[in-house]
Amino acid sequence: MGVAVVGLGNLSLTQILPGFGEAKHVKVTALVSGEREKGQAIASQYGVPEKNIYDYKNYDQLKDNPEVDFVYIVLPNSLHAEYTVRAAKAGKHVLCEKPMATSVKDAETMVSECQRAGKKLMIAYRMLYNSAHIEAIRMVREKQFGEVRFINAVNGQNDAPSGQWRQIKALAGGGSLPDVGIYFVNAFRYLTGEEPIEVTGQMTQPKNDPRFREIEDVSTFTLRFPSGVFATGSAGYSYHENRHLRIMAPDAWFGLDPAFSYDNLTMQIGRKAGKANSMEERRFSPKNQFAVEMDHFSERIRAGKEARTPGSEGVQDHRVLDAIYHAAAAGGVVKLPAVSQLDSTRGPAVEEEKSGSNGFPSGT
Ligand code: NAD
Repeated sequence: MGVAVVGLGNLSLTQILPGFGEAKHVKVTALVSGEREKGQAIASQYGVPEKNIYDYKNYDQLKDNPEVDFVYIVLPNSLHAEYTVRAAKAGKHVLCEKPMATSVKDAETMVSECQRAGKKLMIAYRMLYNSAHIEAIRMVREKQFGEVRFINAVNGQNDAPSGQWRQIKALAGGGSLPDVGIYFVNAFRYLTGEEPIEVTGQMTQPKNDPRFREIEDVSTFTLRFPSGVFATGSAGYSYHENRHLRIMAPDAWFGLDPAFSYDNLTMQIGRKAGKANSMEERRFSPKNQFAVEMDHFSERIRAGKEARTPGSEGVQDHRVLDAIYHAAAAGGVVKLPAVSQLDSTRGPAVEEEKSGSNGFPSGT
């Protein structure tokens, strides 16, 4: 399928466009950029014809281009809703980067407008297509080490230059929470398959750091799930890169460190071995995560099926993010409606390929 990449910033240039080289079912056929010369340079690098370079004004003319099946929106968060709705009206399916939007209302509009246009919407939650995370889900759901009691995660970094759009609330929607915290809001939900019923939150906003005039730096929160699983996470913009996930069960702890990076995801399992404690490490075969998710979307479009992470998955994350912000502002616990069905916001699970995609032990 042909893909129009919308926005030629850091993620598009360093991950998504190179990822097409590893994709089996998609190719980049159009680019959307506000800078013509940049668009031309990237187009010639990736073999995109000049006639398929669009800007943000003539974007709607994609409707006349049969070489584009879906758009991949890689713009600042507040623009996701507008460019999703315009793409759906132009008759294109939409793959949209996380966070899906900057409000629950915009996220719901994206879902309803894609439905109205009869077009599919997928949110680019790359971890749900990654072998290491798929294996962690299996271990939790099959109770490999007993019933999971507690999950903990951290996702933080200290690399945004001062003045970036990520620090402007109107463009980003918030700070570390929607940008990097969303990875484990989502992970806590997909590991358990449940939806949280109680939420608490706390945030810091250092007065002496210009990056945090409008947005939070560290965001810490807890989610309580109906089965009793308790999860805590902390996202941050001012500490050295650190991205881990740990799951605690009666017979072992297991998790990923790093957990949310583009590569080198590694699983650790700690358990009793006789009188000692053992630690096993598993590595997973590297695959470009963006190639995998784009291929998945093209296959689901072709099969007429919902993506594993459709718009409804993003809407629910925004509801949880909202609850965390409310809890942080007001103190105390915010309650969310109980949902009895597991995986209620997700499409069918990903069928992993037999060769090369499963984790393999690399020593203890
Ligand atoms: P970026 O700033 O590097 O790129 C954004 C692009 O949007 C730039 O080309 C910029 O010119 C363009 N743009 C158009 N209108 C703009 C406006 N009004 N203000 C600012 N820029 C404008 O950002 P990025 O890091 O590539 O992030 C883009 C999206 O991708 C975000 O939604 C982000 O959350 C998401 N993202 C996802 C991952 C992931 O691992 N899935 C990683 C990084 C970023």
